Amino acid sequence: MALRWKPLSVEELATFAKRKGFVYRNSEIYGGLAGVYDYGWLGVEMRRRIINAWWDAFVTRRKDMIGIDGATISARKVWEASGHTTSFTDPIVQDLVTKKYYRADHLVEDALGIPTDGLSLEELDRLIREHDVKSPEGNPLGRVSTFNLMFPLTLGAMQAEPNAYLRGETAQIIFINFKNILDTGRVKLPFGIAQVGRAYRNEISPRDWLFRQREFTQMEIEYFYNPKEDFPLFTRDYADRELPFLFAKAQEVGRPAEMVRVGRLVDEGMLNPVHAYWLVEAWDWFISLGIREEKLRVREHTREELSHYSRATVDIEYEYPFGFKELFGLADRGSYDLEQHSKASGVSMHVTLPSGEKIIPRVIEPSFGFDRLFMSLLAEAVHEDEKGNTILRFKPHIAPYEAAVFPLLSNKPELVETATRVFHQLLDEGFTVFYDQSGSIGRRYARQDEAGTPYCLTIDFQTLEDDTLTIRDRDTKEQERIPIRDLPLILREKLRAKRK
Ligand code: ATP
Repeated sequence: MALRWKPLSVEELATFAKRKGFVYRNSEIYGGLAGVYDYGWLGVEMRRRIINAWWDAFVTRRKDMIGIDGATISARKVWEASGHTTSFTDPIVQDLVTKKYYRADHLVEDALGIPTDGLSLEELDRLIREHDVKSPEGNPLGRVSTFNLMFPLTLGAMQAEPNAYLRGETAQIIFINFKNILDTGRVKLPFGIAQVGRAYRNEISPRDWLFRQREFTQMEIEYFYNPKEDFPLFTRDYADRELPFLFAKAQEVGRPAEMVRVGRLVDEGMLNPVHAYWLVEAWDWFISLGIREEKLRVREHTREELSHYSRATVDIEYEYPFGFKELFGLADRGSYDLEQHSKASGVSMHVTLPSGEKIIPRVIEPSFGFDRLFMSLLAEAVHEDEKGNTILRFKPHIAPYEAAVFPLLSNKPELVETATRVFHQLLDEGFTVFYDQSGSIGRRYARQDEAGTPYCLTIDFQTLEDDTLTIRDRDTKEQERIPIRDLPLILREKLRAKRK
């Protein structure tokens, strides 16, 4: 049966995700909390598997990477030293009638249909006046100013002034532990420190479902290196890769992305080899999760748009239902953060090279946003068959479950008993499996198709005679009868083949 990809709007994705139990609105019974979401029973399984896949690819399987898991709260001084308390801001503008606040750049972008990344406050102000841009309610707007995205905290009793912050990015917790890692981690340049965890930003107008939240999950790497040394991991294969690339200059004149050899970006001095290497690594990882190549592009940040800490940044963008937007950011942070923390704390963040020379290493930051990735994977997965049934075509290693086990009938104890035995056997073999005995078999297949489970295993009356069961493929709906004794082997082989 032929399946076709079904593009959904953001609202449709959110409705579907809620109905199936992937994602719920936080505080929904009290009307909801803007920009905050909870992962549901299917969402949490998939979240764990995506994060595991990330950790496996970028930490476990690499000799040059170690991980940490930092707290989400850190001292005020951390964020003062990193520049976040002063520079981590977005442009804000007020509706003069309702007194509500909006992201000034978003209003201009929506009204005029032009990219506004990195425009100054004055430029945004001028565009609003010149084009008489109004608030979404149709009211006049005040002057554009800046708004800091950090969430201050007052830890302890009777604290008048904030003495801590919720982290605005996981990255800083890596930098402030750099000395600890050098002292305990047995690391040698070049090496990376990875971390997965929540980050918090007081986004002025959260929107587009999981895309712009106030609490979200980042999967970040800080990759430290000595700029004076060669970087052998950037091989010819990496240099020869061609990726669709949107140059800063092309954005100014409205030209589209063009296919560019990664080696050219290095030769022209736009990216150094470490930066270029991580671009290809991230791109390939997204493809390995099942994102189609034509839905991705690389975009160079314009000069005005660069963050306060960045020397050069490229994003990988995914074509969301609302257009190409940042899925992943890859910044060259230079040695800014380690130098800032060295100065502010008085603790030196230098690395001693084998020659005895002391240097503050430079760092490339591959920053993966979990929630934006989840949204892309869901959008990519939704397919429809000829009868209009929904099938989520997740790659097996990130689907909430690899297989589901059913007894054909729930009122036959022999079938339930055998199905339970198969369920436990597969769990013992390390598979992620779901057990379901309620409803007609057709309904149970349909439910698993909508959850993206690649294989369904049914125990029926013939099982009791010859110890075989049927294995049904999510994508072809074909069923095969196989001996239970061979099940782990066959299932593993089928999952591996579907992952390709
Ligand atoms: P944007 O320009 O869209 O606000 P950003 O450039 O501020 O994003 P980074 O600081 O580069 O984002 O953060 C790294 C990654 O964290 C992003 O690529 C994105 O996937 C994720 N991310 C950032 N802000 C949010 C948010 N408010 N909600 C969900 N994910 C986010």
